[in-house]
Amino acid sequence: AVDKERSNNVAKIKVVVRKRPLNKKEIAKKEDDIITIDSNALMVHEKKLKVDLTEYVEKHEFLFDAVLNEDVSNEEVYSKTVEPIVPLIFNRTKATCFAYGQTGSGKTYTMQPLPLKASQDILRLMYHTYRNQGFQLFVSYFEIYGGKVFDLLNDRKKLCMREDGKQQVCIVGLQEYKVLDVQTIKELIERGNATRSTGTTGANEESSRSHAILQLAIKRSADGSELKPARLVGKLSFIDLAGSAEINRSLLALKECIRALDNDQGHIPFRGSKLIEVLRDSYMGDSRTVMISCISPSSGSCEHPEYTQIRWVKCL
Ligand code: ADP
Ligand code: MG
Repeated sequence: AVDKERSNNVAKIKVVVRKRPLNKKEIAKKEDDIITIDSNALMVHEKKLKVDLTEYVEKHEFLFDAVLNEDVSNEEVYSKTVEPIVPLIFNRTKATCFAYGQTGSGKTYTMQPLPLKASQDILRLMYHTYRNQGFQLFVSYFEIYGGKVFDLLNDRKKLCMREDGKQQVCIVGLQEYKVLDVQTIKELIERGNATRSTGTTGANEESSRSHAILQLAIKRSADGSELKPARLVGKLSFIDLAGSAEINRSLLALKECIRALDNDQGHIPFRGSKLIEVLRDSYMGDSRTVMISCISPSSGSCEHPEYTQIRWVKCL
């Protein structure tokens, strides 16, 4: 993770690793916890290789913005990832937070509580810091499944996307609920979760094929009054990503977009994946991305546990 480029003291791209505890099944199978976290940033992955009776050690080092141990709570995850970004969306920032990791590594567990905590903070800012300035909060929740978009707050209604003249992508007919209190958000999130193609807990084949995207949008009319139509100010998107194959396809497409944006290429290949297409405006202008890499500590999740050692070491 590189966080060289900073503005407002919040990194443009932040990568955080979260290790989950061994679960009952893994303990019953006598699998080992092979991930040790000493400190918070540098991961050393050592792999012993044997070639013609000679042993080699292959060493890879990875730097992260933070590494969260298995005893770190969801509250702490929120404060290390999304919390610092929340105030920025009142000032035109568009931010995206997603979890990456193999099925069962804790993506859904990690992502589920974040939107509610973020909306609590957003409402607090709206009613205190930005009081009487006409900001309004809207929630939408949809799913991408098999390259199609379904509204999770409207009985999984199938929706189409359209691009307007200004290269803005919009999901036609997506329900957006204006919310004034935390309880309403909570109910909407629960309704959306129940409408997902699987429910939230199923670590089955289906859940590994759908991306769920919850968006919190801040809007305001030109004069701050509630009478004129409100326009988008900033937004926060939370993505519970599909399982590995889908993720890798989408991330590859995302990588190509970021590279094109970085090089100021005229053509940005947003159409590489439906997920990237719907998030298109989140990568234009002032944007922030938080990736939470979820990892299972179990030797059973490792290709060659007998030859592999992963540890985090203190970094200067
Ligand atoms: P994924 O979405 O990546 O497939 P889940 O979030 O569904 O994985 O997690 C798989 C199981 O592990 C769930 O039963 C979940 O409650 C549990 N789990 C995941 N992360 C943690 C954690 N940090 N602490 C405790 N239990 C966890
Ligand atoms: Mg999941």
